[in-house]
Amino acid sequence: MNQTEAIEKALEHFARLLEEQLRRVDQMKAGEDWADYSRIKPIVVGVVGGDGIGPYITKEAVRVLEYLLVEEISGGKVLLKDIPGLTIEERVSIMKALPEDTLTELKKCHVILKGPLTTPKKGDRWPNLESANVSMRRELDLFANVRPVKVPEKGIDWIFFRENTEGEYVLGSRGFNVTDDLAVDFKVITNQGAERIVRLAFEYARNNGIKRVSAVTKANVIKTTDGKFLETARQVAREYPEIQFDDWFVDIMAAKLVDEKRRRDFKVIVLPNLYGDILTDEAAEFQGGVGTAGSANIGKRYAMFEAIHGSAPRMVDEGRAQFADPSSMMRAAVMLLRHIGMAEKASRMEMALDICGQFERKVCLTGRSDGATGAQFADYVMQTLKDPNLKTRWRSYQS
Ligand code: NAD
Repeated sequence: MNQTEAIEKALEHFARLLEEQLRRVDQMKAGEDWADYSRIKPIVVGVVGGDGIGPYITKEAVRVLEYLLVEEISGGKVLLKDIPGLTIEERVSIMKALPEDTLTELKKCHVILKGPLTTPKKGDRWPNLESANVSMRRELDLFANVRPVKVPEKGIDWIFFRENTEGEYVLGSRGFNVTDDLAVDFKVITNQGAERIVRLAFEYARNNGIKRVSAVTKANVIKTTDGKFLETARQVAREYPEIQFDDWFVDIMAAKLVDEKRRRDFKVIVLPNLYGDILTDEAAEFQGGVGTAGSANIGKRYAMFEAIHGSAPRMVDEGRAQFADPSSMMRAAVMLLRHIGMAEKASRMEMALDICGQFERKVCLTGRSDGATGAQFADYVMQTLKDPNLKTRWRSYQS
């Protein structure tokens, strides 16, 4: 192929991407109402075990949920439903990131608790397949990835609002080799996509009495897309005059998160997809590692809750899967309960997790056989949930 033909082929590819993205903009413009869980019975919670350590840690989170929601489940208010078909073997067998039957089943649920899913990467034993996570976020329009990180003794109480359906990832598998020498990827930011994530962050701040929202971009270099994200954030900020708004470049923000004097000032942080992915893993490390952090993927109609880490295949290969920390999936379950309006149950579970994982730590996980198993940790959490003085016990660690 000569250069002119190569450019023409790339332009055709680019035109298709633009048409798809403009259709997405139209869908966002059409809008949709938020789900009202108080009117839904039963609330169907789809459970996806996932790959690697996923089924191990998901099982333990489900055990705790079943214990906590025994009345709601027996009374028909909540239904926990297994959703099969999403393991890497199943996805590869039909070469679909998100098999259609499974997507249909997921769409029959109201919320989803999902274990990590393996994404093939160049050089490993799986053929190249799009990330099922990215695909699910896009298909269910889960535009906000919300990740709280708390380390009370260090004054850290952050909540990240990472944009989930745009940025560098939405076309991550659609980059183009124009010639053997030239590869191009795409980054997408829309007014509608940026506005809805920034607004969610500000609404969260307003509803929780938080007085600061910080946006993170690299708008000095990535001028068009990050520039649009930042400009949209500035416009939305004007509607929330009681909240201080500031913006940071992602490189200096990565540095500030390790600056003990400054980092405690950050509260709500809103950012495009890639920067959000990186900074939230960094942030989770202060809390005790990625095994301790859950995240929510929120859309107006559906919501999905998961650990922030992946399927940890090395732990499985080394026979250590049963020692994986299920706190991440349990923290995800806390967010799920809060999202469906069960705030009291969510708080109880959160207090039990703080006591077991951060304060008392009578059952310690190390990820290896010298520590406890995930099942032993789940038993400890359920034992703690039984304590009628749970709140007093939790408060005693706050002073
Ligand atoms: P990873 O997050 O799976 O694991 C990195 C290391 O972190 C592990 O080797 C382990 O030492 C530790 N770790 C992670 N979770 C732990 C837990 N619960 N308890 C104890 N230790 C834990 O990162 P990776 O190896 O880069 O990714 C593996 C696979 O997971 C890849 O295919 C990746 O694409 C996928 N992934 C999926 C998701 C998701 O489903 N949302 C997120 C990230 C990565």
